[in-house]
Amino acid sequence: MANNRRILLCLAHMSEAGEEMKFIKEAFDTNWVVPLGPNVNGFEKDLEDFVNRNNCGKTLNKRVVALSAGTAAVHLGLVNLGVQPGDEVICQSFTFSASANPVVYQGATPVFVDSEPGTWNMDPNLLEDAIKDRIAKTGRKPKAIIPVYLYGMPAYIDKIMEVARRYEIPILEDAAEAFGSCYRGQACGTFGAYGVMSFNGNKMITTSGGGALICPDDEAKKRTLFYATQAREPFPYYQHEHIGYNYRMSNICAGIGRGQMTIVDDHIAHHVRARDIYLKGFEDIDGIELHVAPEDYMEPNYWLHTITVDPDKFGIDYDQLRIILDQAGIESRPLWKPMHMQPVFRSAPAYVNGVSEKLFNCGLCLPSGPMVTDEDFALIINTIKNAAK
Ligand SMILES: *Cc1c(COP(=O)(O)O)cnc(C)c1O
Repeated sequence: MANNRRILLCLAHMSEAGEEMKFIKEAFDTNWVVPLGPNVNGFEKDLEDFVNRNNCGKTLNKRVVALSAGTAAVHLGLVNLGVQPGDEVICQSFTFSASANPVVYQGATPVFVDSEPGTWNMDPNLLEDAIKDRIAKTGRKPKAIIPVYLYGMPAYIDKIMEVARRYEIPILEDAAEAFGSCYRGQACGTFGAYGVMSFNGNKMITTSGGGALICPDDEAKKRTLFYATQAREPFPYYQHEHIGYNYRMSNICAGIGRGQMTIVDDHIAHHVRARDIYLKGFEDIDGIELHVAPEDYMEPNYWLHTITVDPDKFGIDYDQLRIILDQAGIESRPLWKPMHMQPVFRSAPAYVNGVSEKLFNCGLCLPSGPMVTDEDFALIINTIKNAAK
């Protein structure tokens, strides 16, 4: 290795102009070092403008609540939808565990549904099979559906919505990886009743740790704020009639978020441009396939670029390739291990077609963040080319 800098999947990257520090300094100077204040309101306004701007000609009036994590947003989405002990919630199996864990926090049971091979997201037909079977087996329909936009790839959300509408089940979209992704010109996360955003350290933008819940209207935003700040009733003393949470984003973190919003379009453009570099680089490598949008009306943010490796054509398998990349100073990672294969969810019902398990056994995530330079991309592509047997 010429230098000893590791090329990482998606490292946090602050604006060149130092906007983040400016907002944080302002918070210190005005003593707003608390979980409310001008940065939180400003960041929420930025997020509302961002999601409502990609509206496909409709008037979108989504409201956003900034929270301490994307996981908290999934949880409060379920609280808003009235998910209770004994309920079932349908989750995409091919995801990060944070999509499903809050179902268990609510005392409900996740029911996992596998993916279709085009987007790697929830299979709408299998979703309908699962709903029918749950109604037949339990006499009740699932309380909510959580589709995911894995790696920023839009799902077939209109087909999923159609099934959901037929059975009148609300949708909570996990758009944690899809900040800036659009489906038919509309922002992912704005189709269902609620949508989840994440600003963890490795996501499209970061607040060092944080998330947000996209809400349908002012009333839902108010209710979410109430639950996120310990469910305090309006009394001079502390009166509680509901279980609350300490889930609000701090004014310091929101300052980072406001700074990140000044460069988010550049970040997304970098990830999308990486698709063209990888596509061209892998053109003549047999057995390596880059995962790209299966439809031209889908605009992924390409948060993480992913490949599948065919060992018969490529000569080695995805895990041997991962080790070779690692030795060359390049971070890569196997795809998410499906929830229906996780020991912790052993007893959860699952509707499986083999798609996610197969992807888990042949896929890798490759670096794509704003810190990855053109030379880095060339090194990654060359390392993969030379690894072929
Ligand atoms: C990151 C992520 C979350 C959780 O977000 P945090 O901010 O890390 O709590 C939820 N779902 C998916 C699919 C994610 O990738």
